Amino acid sequence: MSGAASRRGIPFVVSAPSGTGKTTVCRLALTRDEGLEFSISHTTRKPREGERNGVDYHFVDEEQFRDLVASGAFLEHAEYAGRCYGTSWSSLEAPLEAGRDLLLEIEVQGAAQVREARADARFVFLLPPSMRVLEQRLRGRGTDSDEVIAARLALAERELEAVRFFDYVIVNDLLEESVAALLEVVGAERAGDTRELSARYGRETVLASWQGPQGG
Ligand code: ADP
Ligand code: 5GP
Repeated sequence: MSGAASRRGIPFVVSAPSGTGKTTVCRLALTRDEGLEFSISHTTRKPREGERNGVDYHFVDEEQFRDLVASGAFLEHAEYAGRCYGTSWSSLEAPLEAGRDLLLEIEVQGAAQVREARADARFVFLLPPSMRVLEQRLRGRGTDSDEVIAARLALAERELEAVRFFDYVIVNDLLEESVAALLEVVGAERAGDTRELSARYGRETVLASWQGPQGG
């Protein structure tokens, strides 16, 4: 086996309050970096229009999810807005073993579990420019009822507190800049040269200039 084949991939955890734009940013990043793969989670929520089973998520019912939890299938799992979500060991290990880097787009409770379990993971938090913009994005997406949007906004304030556990922070204002920033983090981590990253995307640096949840 060649030396290149022995490189293990890096799991990149990307979290943000729902509606910030992490799916949009991750999907674009995936189209631009062939070494990146999306970790397909399991969920008990129903597919949105256009979502495909086995591509966006593995859609399962609650009993199937419970069985997977009981059999130890998940690296992490969490309940979010009344639905269950989880990352299976199998969705993670095969790509990493093959030397492919993975994007795990997951919420903050799951991210905290990955932090405990995986020293090889890197953590990127996306911030909305403000809560007002977050609400506009949730409404603009047009996929959730008023009730679901209210539940997600209520969760967002608490989720923002988790930013302090993350290595890198990106404010998702201009989409192209956010995608470039995520790819820069991936590229630097891959190359093992992260010296420039903390000045640009380090938590302290970014939070110092962010307007805060009520700003903007
Ligand atoms: P999340 O995965 O964090 O819940 P989505 O990726 O579904 O969020 O994005 C929520 C909405 O915001 C979508 O309608 C998306 O098109 C829009 N959006 C995402 N990023 C941006 C951005 N940088 N500027 C403007 N709109 C955005
Ligand atoms: P959505 O229903 O909008 O697709 O996702 C709701 C939330 O669940 C988002 O914050 C998303 O990142 C998160 N999520 C998706 N997959 C997983 C997963 O496998 N584990 C955890 N903990 N959260 C997930």
